[in-house]
Amino acid sequence: MLEFVVIFTKGGVVLWHTNVSGNSFASCINSLIRGVILEDRNTEAKYFEEDHLAVQFKLDNELDLVYAAIFQKVIKLNYLDGFLADMQTAFKEKYGGIPASEQLGGDYDFDREYRRVLSAAEEASAKQVKAPKAMRSYNESQKSKKTVASMIQDDKKPTEKRVNIQESPPPTKSQPSSPQSASAVNMDKLIRRKLREKLTPTKKTSPSDLKPSKSTSSEKAGKKPRVWDLGGNSKDAINLDRSKDAPEDVQYQNINTELVGTMQGVIRDLDVESEDEDENEEESSDEEEVVQTKKNKRGGLLSYFKGIVGGKTMTLADLQPALEKMRDHLISKNVATEIAAKLCDSVATSLDGKQMGTFDSIASQVKEALTQSLVRILSPKRRIDIIRDALESKRNGRPYTIIFCGVNGVGKSTNLAKICFWLIENDFNVLIAACDTFRAGAVEQLRTHTRHLNALHPAAKHDGRTMVQLYEKGYGKDAAGIAMEAIKFAHDTRVDVVLVDTAGRMQDNEPLMRSLSKLIKVNNPDLVLFVGEALVGNEAVDQLVKFNQSLADYSSNENPHIIDGIVLTKFDTIDDKVGAAISMTYITGQPIVFVGTGQTYADLKAINVNAVVNSLMK
Ligand code: GDP
Repeated sequence: MLEFVVIFTKGGVVLWHTNVSGNSFASCINSLIRGVILEDRNTEAKYFEEDHLAVQFKLDNELDLVYAAIFQKVIKLNYLDGFLADMQTAFKEKYGGIPASEQLGGDYDFDREYRRVLSAAEEASAKQVKAPKAMRSYNESQKSKKTVASMIQDDKKPTEKRVNIQESPPPTKSQPSSPQSASAVNMDKLIRRKLREKLTPTKKTSPSDLKPSKSTSSEKAGKKPRVWDLGGNSKDAINLDRSKDAPEDVQYQNINTELVGTMQGVIRDLDVESEDEDENEEESSDEEEVVQTKKNKRGGLLSYFKGIVGGKTMTLADLQPALEKMRDHLISKNVATEIAAKLCDSVATSLDGKQMGTFDSIASQVKEALTQSLVRILSPKRRIDIIRDALESKRNGRPYTIIFCGVNGVGKSTNLAKICFWLIENDFNVLIAACDTFRAGAVEQLRTHTRHLNALHPAAKHDGRTMVQLYEKGYGKDAAGIAMEAIKFAHDTRVDVVLVDTAGRMQDNEPLMRSLSKLIKVNNPDLVLFVGEALVGNEAVDQLVKFNQSLADYSSNENPHIIDGIVLTKFDTIDDKVGAAISMTYITGQPIVFVGTGQTYADLKAINVNAVVNSLMK
């Protein structure tokens, strides 16, 4: 028996579902969206299990919809394939002509059709069960028609083609050829973000958040364009609605370029509230004092060591309970579990057997030991100085090349654009290579950034030099080839820096990891940057380990080019849960080169090691 049937957009907006009391299936559907649909994983199997439930689902790539049926996994329902296909047909017949943007705000009366389709499917299935097919004779079977020659395997025949998103073009219908489909893509992205926010309790709500997707009047009236503030001044924000390709002169006539914060020279340090600063603050207002008292009451990481009696030689047994609390504290700050445990071990090792004084001295010993470990982790083993190296390349008459990689939706394109802005402000001209040839809308997104950046830095202000150009070959082409052509073009036309955007990919997707490895190998960039979200804890470690491993494994070079540095994005959304910075650098030993702190071009910072360490201690 079917427990629950639902139709929702690939971004997670529910359009219609069967009536059930409570929302006992929400978790299962959420897991399906998060673990399979959003990550484009396992969508071929069209089957998913969680606890005692199973979901069979069908994707409609044309309308970007998912039809899902939930049932108890111990029950076998043999009619589901046909049933879901009929549901799709019926839903399409009724609502298929309505543009995606309107669908998202619509109200769906689909109960009657659902009942009709379900009873037809159940009837057909019952008939099949009642009248089992008579067994075919050998002569009727396909096997009898096979010749001996056809049964011998021909090694020269091409084997089944590997699925590789870099090589196979996406269905053309899903490409944003029209403003309407582009708007659907934008909407889907926004919904994904919203969904992820829902799933991630640590994240602060940002001002550009999506409003509730269903049945809000503003949604019905059409999608609100995304607004990016320039240098934080929302009044004069640029309209970054990627769905509308308005002519340049119309779209930019009101831009006041003076508003853009200057980003010349090195990137400014990240501002994380630091404990030391708090402690050293001598004069504070009443309000600040209240905040301070609250903080002290809450106690930081060091308060766990309060119960330990001083004045004796410390043993591991004395420290163990406090160390466990410390580990949980670090995990609550988003440090990956394994790394939090290792940090505690290193503190334990440095305290074990020490002669301790009062509480203060225990606390300060712990603080010193932990700070040392954290600073060691966060301090880069090699310094990456992009400005210096790009100037060096320029002197040698070749473009400086950076390749950006990471999973979907982490902010690769956005932060590539911010880095581009920073480079232009430092008087480098840039070629953006659009090598995400898979995700619908990816090229358009970069085109929009290119136009905005050129509007902010017109050629007239740079001795007639166009500061940003886009190198794109549309969708479905080989990304490595496009990057190569772009670098050659930059070389021939004397462009200073090439920024290569790549398709988002899951770390477990072997064909895609192979193609990334190939892209890096054949183009030999100066820098490979991994873009990762600050929101993630353990997942960050898994991503980085597997990206690095794949780049090493799939490159036939003796000395493979693996990840050189990290762009840590969405730092503005994590409050004081700064642990991903520790996890990511601990795993690779590679530095965090940039920190993304928002959605304006100026929201790019350098990591401030002391501030991150202090924030972890709180
Ligand atoms: P990609 O798929 O990795 O290229 O990701 P996008 O560049 O399209 O970014 C996904 C979403 O994250 C977009 O809505 C961006 O505006 C948002 N984003 C990117 N970087 C940041 C950041 O530093 N802070 C915040 N709050 N949002 C960001």
